[in-house]
Amino acid sequence: MKYIEEYRNPATAHALAAEIARTVTRPWTIMEVCGGQTHAILRFGIDHLLPPSLRLIHGPGCPVCVTPAGLIDQAVTLTKRHEVILCSFGDMLRVPGHKQGDLLHAKAAGGDVRVVYSPLDALALACREPSREVVFFAIGFETTAPANAMAAHQALTRGVTNFSLLVSQVLVAPAMDFILRAPESQVQGFLAAGHAATVTGVEELEQLCIRHHVPVVVTGFEPVDLLNGILHCVRQLEEGRAELENAYSRAVRPAGNVSALDMTHRVFEVIDREWRGLGILPASGLGLRFEYSTLDAAKRFHLGQPLNGGDGECKGGQVMLGTLRPDQCPAFGVRCRPENPLGAPMVSSEGACAAYFRFRGPDGKSKTYQG
Ligand code: SF4
Repeated sequence: MKYIEEYRNPATAHALAAEIARTVTRPWTIMEVCGGQTHAILRFGIDHLLPPSLRLIHGPGCPVCVTPAGLIDQAVTLTKRHEVILCSFGDMLRVPGHKQGDLLHAKAAGGDVRVVYSPLDALALACREPSREVVFFAIGFETTAPANAMAAHQALTRGVTNFSLLVSQVLVAPAMDFILRAPESQVQGFLAAGHAATVTGVEELEQLCIRHHVPVVVTGFEPVDLLNGILHCVRQLEEGRAELENAYSRAVRPAGNVSALDMTHRVFEVIDREWRGLGILPASGLGLRFEYSTLDAAKRFHLGQPLNGGDGECKGGQVMLGTLRPDQCPAFGVRCRPENPLGAPMVSSEGACAAYFRFRGPDGKSKTYQG
């Protein structure tokens, strides 16, 4: 399959790994931002191809993992209203809230919770069910924002009054900035997520390089992409450079996707947002603009301010900061497993804890485990 097989070619991957080994002369720590990249690294054993002095740590780029417990409580509250159909991506159903449980339990208790693949599916449902209130749980990074914005825009312009959004949109560059400012941060270079940069372009990432003097390499999700990104990053580290490099130019244009950005900015504005496990990060998320505020489910249903915090014994915040490997969490594989998750990183298909459990087994260390 074009654009897949050539990027999984073992000979190319091993050649890149050998070049990385020749390049590295001292210890370095690189964070891959995106949960999809974390899963690819674990799945293909890329970390095992690298020299021991080169450490990969896993970042906060899992949209489900960073959705705060308070927002899940609000979603669960909505399911108790008989007129509401709560539409969500499937990954969100098992993420625990504060005290209200999760959406799967809310569904079992009689709430009308439906899994959709797109906000436009939820909008179509609202058109088919005019006597119900359809709420879409709009989570994610810059990759989901344009479609969520499009759904809001269409609802407003078509006069669909029974559709609204419970918004938990976050932005990746402010989170990278937060990580670099954290005193405990060990990050010396970043692999940035190619799909987000496809939308945003590279300018904000370039600003991060300048502000913090760290190399940032935009890359993809296949083994050859990741190894190529790592090679670019370690070359910069070894040479003392801190530049933005686009190692995913087959998809990422410097200016990003202008149409998608226009739609996003037409509907959303930048606001402070809480990130699960990390707290409230300034200017790190999106909220509906005043012109679209009638589509804000939190306002329409008078949900008030969500409760902050609420991770219990889950150490997902440390995992997403890269200061704790998932298998170093005392609950990993013991009290926290995919069938009984204590935190979002064990639930999500992009969560780092789920990746360790799936590809390294219940102790998180096996080199051959394929769950
Ligand atoms: S193993 Fe479970 S409890 Fe520990 S950080 Fe991961 S999700 Fe949270």
